[in-house]
Amino acid sequence: MKKTIKDINVKGKYVFVRCDLNVPRKDGVITDDKRIRAALPTIQYLLGKGGRLVLCSHMGRPKGKVDPALSLKPVAARLTHLLGQDVPLAQDVIGEDAWRLHDQLQDGQAMLLENVRFHPEEEKNDPEFAKKLAEFGEFFVMDAFGVSHRAHASTAGISEYLTTVAGFLMEDEIKHLGEALENVDRPYTAIMGGSKVSDKILLIENMISKVDALIIGGGMAYTFIKALGGSIGKSLCEEDMVDLAKDIIKKAEAAGVKLMLPVDTVAAKEFANDSPSEVVDIMKIPEDEMGLDIGPKSEKIFAEQISHSKTVVWNGPMGVFEMPNFESGTRCIAEAMAECSGKTIVGGGDSGAAVAQFGLEDKMLLVSTGGGASLEFLEGKQLPGVVCIEEKERIPFIAGNWKMYKTIEEAKKFVEEFKTIYRKEEVEVGLIVPYLQIPIVKELTEGTGIRVGAQNMHYEDYGAFTGEISAPMLKEVGIDCCIIGHSERRQYFGETDETVNKKMKKAFRYGITPILCVGESLEEREAGKAFEVVEKQIQADFAWIPADQAATAVVAYEPIWAIGTGKTATAEQANEMCEAIRKVLAECYDEGTAAKIRIQYGGSVKPANSEEILSQPDIDGALVGGASLKPEEFIQIVKI
Ligand code: ADP
Ligand code: MG
Repeated sequence: MKKTIKDINVKGKYVFVRCDLNVPRKDGVITDDKRIRAALPTIQYLLGKGGRLVLCSHMGRPKGKVDPALSLKPVAARLTHLLGQDVPLAQDVIGEDAWRLHDQLQDGQAMLLENVRFHPEEEKNDPEFAKKLAEFGEFFVMDAFGVSHRAHASTAGISEYLTTVAGFLMEDEIKHLGEALENVDRPYTAIMGGSKVSDKILLIENMISKVDALIIGGGMAYTFIKALGGSIGKSLCEEDMVDLAKDIIKKAEAAGVKLMLPVDTVAAKEFANDSPSEVVDIMKIPEDEMGLDIGPKSEKIFAEQISHSKTVVWNGPMGVFEMPNFESGTRCIAEAMAECSGKTIVGGGDSGAAVAQFGLEDKMLLVSTGGGASLEFLEGKQLPGVVCIEEKERIPFIAGNWKMYKTIEEAKKFVEEFKTIYRKEEVEVGLIVPYLQIPIVKELTEGTGIRVGAQNMHYEDYGAFTGEISAPMLKEVGIDCCIIGHSERRQYFGETDETVNKKMKKAFRYGITPILCVGESLEEREAGKAFEVVEKQIQADFAWIPADQAATAVVAYEPIWAIGTGKTATAEQANEMCEAIRKVLAECYDEGTAAKIRIQYGGSVKPANSEEILSQPDIDGALVGGASLKPEEFIQIVKI
């Protein structure tokens, strides 16, 4: 999982943001501002967090020379309009004017550099130039998915010098395109079309190893029909690809992939919208005609296949959709995907344009903004502008603490209900249940990936400790995480940092992940001692624990003063303490270890406040109390 702008703290910091603002223009006027609008969520988020943004983009192909016709001036004006705040354009990229505007930036303000491709060093990925760009920021936000397949100075080179994270657009693209390559829901159908087999050969080969069904339509289908011995008339055909097509047909069969070709086609004498057309058997296209779209029988068969799929990836139109008389096949695929309840992903420039033309963009899970980039991603290539984004050190962990609530029957009911609404997400989910409920909850959650934990454990392995449960006992029932030092135990049962530390050591010894609770009381906070108190707890609780074990721990920060008192900690207050905890951990160990330890927030997290809290950079999840008792409330927090 890649780091995103939610993982960095940009307040008062300079942030270099690479966007793709390369919009189509006519006579200097923007004809479609979709790309600018797609860049807004990232920009608005960073401005809202008080960052100072240096925005960067290319436009067209100026070939390394200043070309006034390719100035970003209209883009700066449109950005200013859409954001409702001034976005000044620098007269240059790394020159005096850019620095003048940079030095004037205040928190929550943005500027735009001039077209980065005015410098030949950009496309050459010149390290000196990349370094100069890097001097503008303390963070590099990569949000230009559309150019991420190019190793340029502003898309990859600059990442050598700055902490590099993904913007929201990039995050969305790699998340959903990634879903087409890994952990797919089945049945999985890929639809390939467009003009040439040669353009898509790598894609087809990569897809054969992944999909259950492969539909081939569009201009490239005729090469396959020829390979099968059909007559294709004047249809598009790549003679030198016929053998390769035969090969693909064999490979698909060997891999057990259902290869689906059109059975009929709409054929015409000329490549023109008004050329009279007829529907013919695709194996018997008349000598003087060419197939320009798939026929109605093929449409029906393909749509049927799509409707039964849980994942559908589409690249390449089914016909010459630019001509209204030959758009039907492409429209039919788009509509079938729009109606499909599974994951629907569209890659490719023309396919995306077709979906937009039919007004179905909102009905797809993803319409990729990157033509070439999405193609290369789906081919399984590593894109330089994606590779350069840092990996997340910590996966969020949301744990529900049931405390002393719920009978066995109620626990059963909870898990059964929860399982129907829970899908494995990119977060870890844990249920921390009373001892007696452990066996049933373990049994019912098997194979779901949900972690089951205990609420406390003793620090001895065995002995005369009436009423206690030991780490080996927990291991015996399959428990691998346990709350240690919960505020209620510290408050009512005399838990001290000394016993907490003993328990921590024991937990690690048995491979149980401790969820260590720390936090300050109201008196401590009011006396201004909050940070001091928590710092002491962390130091004492982690005493003598080696770094490699500590790195696997989970810390839960509970502001005791804000639990059930009606007082609330703001998301900023919560993050401030979690940041301080990580600093203490870095002092106890090192930065690398501290960066791995997950810090949950445990102060009355509810669906209503969870979004704000969980988006804080130093908060890696939540220890949820009351809101974990109802499946529908708990799932809302998990989904965030
Ligand atoms: P994408 O950009 O989605 O990857 P391609 O660039 O591979 O798609 O292909 C799109 C082009 O293929 C369109 O311009 C379309 O007109 C053309 N095309 C589709 N079917 C045919 C056909 N039967 N004959 C000629 N051209 C076709
Ligand atoms: Mg194209």
